[in-house]
This record gives sequence, C-alpha cells and structure tokens, in this order.
Amino acid sequence: MPANSRTIIVLGAGVGGLVTANELRKRLSKEHTVILIDKSEEHISYSSALWVAIGERGQEEIKKDVSRLTREGVDFVQDEIQKIDLAGKIVKTSKRDLRYDYLVISLGVSLAPETVPGLTEAMNKNAFNFYTLDGILKAKDALNNFSKGNLIIMVSALPYKCPVAPNEFSLLLNSFFTKRGLRKDINIKVCTPEVLPMGGNGPKTGSIVKGLMESAGVEYKSQHAVQAVNSDKNEIVFDKGTMNYDLLLVIPPHKAPKVIVEAGLAEPDWVPVDKNTLKTKFDNVYAIGDNAKVKLPGEWKQGMPLMLSKGGVFAHYEAKVIAENIANEILGSKERVEYTGRAACFVETGFGKAGLAQGYFFTTPTPNTVFLKPSRILHLSKIMFEKYWLSESALFRGIMNFFMENWMYGEYKRRG
Ligand SMILES: Cc1cc2nc3c(=O)[nH]c(=O)nc-3n(C[C@H](O)[C@H](O)[C@H](O)COP(=O)(O)OP(=O)(O)OC[C@H]3O[C@@H](n4cnc5c(N)ncnc54)[C@H](O)[C@@H]3O)c2cc1C
Repeated sequence: MPANSRTIIVLGAGVGGLVTANELRKRLSKEHTVILIDKSEEHISYSSALWVAIGERGQEEIKKDVSRLTREGVDFVQDEIQKIDLAGKIVKTSKRDLRYDYLVISLGVSLAPETVPGLTEAMNKNAFNFYTLDGILKAKDALNNFSKGNLIIMVSALPYKCPVAPNEFSLLLNSFFTKRGLRKDINIKVCTPEVLPMGGNGPKTGSIVKGLMESAGVEYKSQHAVQAVNSDKNEIVFDKGTMNYDLLLVIPPHKAPKVIVEAGLAEPDWVPVDKNTLKTKFDNVYAIGDNAKVKLPGEWKQGMPLMLSKGGVFAHYEAKVIAENIANEILGSKERVEYTGRAACFVETGFGKAGLAQGYFFTTPTPNTVFLKPSRILHLSKIMFEKYWLSESALFRGIMNFFMENWMYGEYKRRG
C-alpha cells in the first residue's frame, strides 16, 4: 500500500453513511480505502415507509441491497459494530478489527420502547411501532382491519427523528379512511409532548401544519407526556390524565446506539459536533445525521436552546460537506466547505398532495423557515426524490442532484 494512502471508515449504511461513502469514493483515487460497515445488508428508505402502511408501496419498493447503492470501490462490510476504540483508531466488528485514519459515525438512533412502562407489552397487542419496517407491516394489517374507534398516534419522547412523520401519518390516514368511506367512524388523534408540530421550524410552520390537521378533523393533543401504557385496558396514562385507544401507532423513545455510548462519544445523550464541520472533539472523527447533536445559534423562545432536528435531509447534506472536506484534506488541498443548516422536507397531506417545509437553521435570532402550501406538484416531487434515492442510474441521480441542489437544498454549503 502506498505510504500516503488513507483509510476512511464510515459507520452505518443509512442515509448519512451511504452518501458519505459514495462521495468519498467519487473524490478519492483507489490508493485510498473507503470502508462502509452496517449490520444489515439492506438499506431501507424510511421517507417512503408511511406509504407502505397505507398500501401505496410494497415493502420491496422501499429497500435495496446496500451493495447496489454503493459506488464501485466502496468496501462494504456487513457486520455488527461492537466497539469503537478511539485511542487505538480501531473499529471492532464481530469478525474483525479495522484500522482507520478517518472515522465517520452515522449510526442513527436506537429505539427504546422499554423505557415507557407497559409499552413493549402493548406492542404485542394493538399498539404498533411505525419506526421500523417490521412494525409498519404489522400496522398495515391492523389499519386494513380497522373500521371504527379511537386511533392514536403517539410521540413517546423528544427528540425523535423526522418530526414531520406523526403529523404526516395522521393526514395520510385521514385520506386512507376517507377513501374507504370509514372516516366518520374513526377519531384520529396525535398525542405529543411538543407544543406545536415540527418545533424546530418555529411557530408559523407549526401553526400551518396544525391547521392542516385540524381541517382534516385530526385532534392535535399537545404537551401530552406519556407515563405508561396499560394494554389490558387499552389505556395511555399521560401526565394530564388517561386516554383510551382502539389502535395505537407509536414512535418509541430514542437513544444513542450502545457502541457510541460505550466509546464515550455521547454527551450525555448524543454526539456533540461543530455545526459547520460536523467534527467531534476527537481527531479525524466526524458524526453526522441522527446520532449527532448540533446546537443551533438561534432560538424560538429565549432561554430555550434548539438542536438541529433529526432527519434524512440533514444527514444527506452533512455527509456531502464532510466528504468534500475529508477528501480535500487527504489530497492536500486547503479548500474547505461549511454546512449551512439549509434543509427542506416534504409533508405528505394525503389525497395526492404534499407541502414543503424549508429552512435555514443556522440563522439568528431564529431559524429562517417557510412552508410551501400543499400541491400536487410537491407530491410528485417527493415521488421523484424517492426514485432518486433508490436509483442505480448515475444519469438519473446526476439530473436529480442538479435539481435538488439548485432548488430544494441550494446553499447547503459555503466556502469555509
Ligand atoms: C417512518 C419514518 C419516516 C421518515 N420520513 C422521513 C422523511 O420524509 N424525510 C427525512 O428527511 N427523514 C425521514 N425520516 C428520518 C430518516 O429516516 C432518518 O433521519 C435518517 O435515516 C438518518 O440517517 P442516519 O444516517 O443518521 O441514520 P440511519 O439512516 O438510521 O442509518 C443508521 C445505520 O446504522 C446501522 N447500525 C446501527 N448500529 C449498528 C451497529 N452496531 N453495527 C452495524 N450497523 C449499525 C443501522 O443498521 C442503519 O443502517 C423518517 C424516519 C421514519 C422512521
């Protein structure tokens, strides 16, 4: 191996990890090694997962083998990561030890239903975790057999990834049950500890999204913190009292993956990083996506610090920034770019329409956000995004990249 060759290990082949590995491979010659590690051989595109729950996609349409989504020359290792040894610069998997010069951590979140008393037991009955594909498939069967009663979508704790998802799901279910002629017999409620939907996007966007839900007859139960679930009585115990359900769709509490905690990276919950460079306090170690903690300079309410939301759109563009910087450093170039916190996320509203929540999240005194009202064209744009994400065609991806970087995510980076 040439003396100046470098090894970059990317942990996790989800949104952030895939983009990082592919961008690095594109920018670096073959003397440098890019290793991507994930315990699963399949990548699941969760931004399409709610369509599976309502029968608009089959599960096969939202997943693909990781090896079919990586550029030639990315070494994909399918194995469980067991230890990150920061002092020794080694990643230990169940089968081998791998040495790195640069490490990118994009391991997402672990779901922790066991932290809500009774929730795990309820998930064996008529409560479903819609944050895993397995849970979504079970929820799909339950939704197909559901014809009347209380349907509750519950956010168990903050923060959770994709703050759009519970609200979007309620709107998709409104459309799903309306089309089946069952809507008048079903009460849809979203119960959450939040004050308004999508708190990071601020009160204006939150009120618009809440308004969309109210127009669809969805009750938004804000500031409801779950204490326990009693599945014998089909009852949720909130700090504000109890509520009965016939069907419960749950976002379980999130925590950092165990290997991150054991490596001493979580402080105390997620991995703190510089907002522009995504560097951790450890040399040549970066953390992006859901497992990272990015403190925002602005605030919506004085004295209430904000963290960047967890979402695929953030992981994707953070990955592009760090890959460019790592590659430039390895190639001896002084050019650096900085992440600007620019992001945009579709909000499906049912009946073939979607809105778009856009924002610059690093502005002061508040993030600078806007919500584009639901339209057919935005729904079709989301479908194009879905096709881009799981596409193997370099030409199609190139065209879509041009479109996304010049319209949806323009200015996601600036020269550092
Ligand atoms: C229902 C739903 C809908 C969503 N909709 C949207 C949306 O519309 N738009 C959007 O932007 N985001 C959406 N999200 C959120 C989005 O999926 C995540 O924010 C995004 O995937 C985060 O990327 P990541 O790289 O940080 O982590 P992930 O994509 O979660 O990837 C982490 C990877 O690490 C692997 N891993 C973890 N631990 C280990 C280990 N010990 N060893 C080996 N491998 C390991 C996992 O297998 C996984 O592949 C949605 C999420 C859900 C659940």
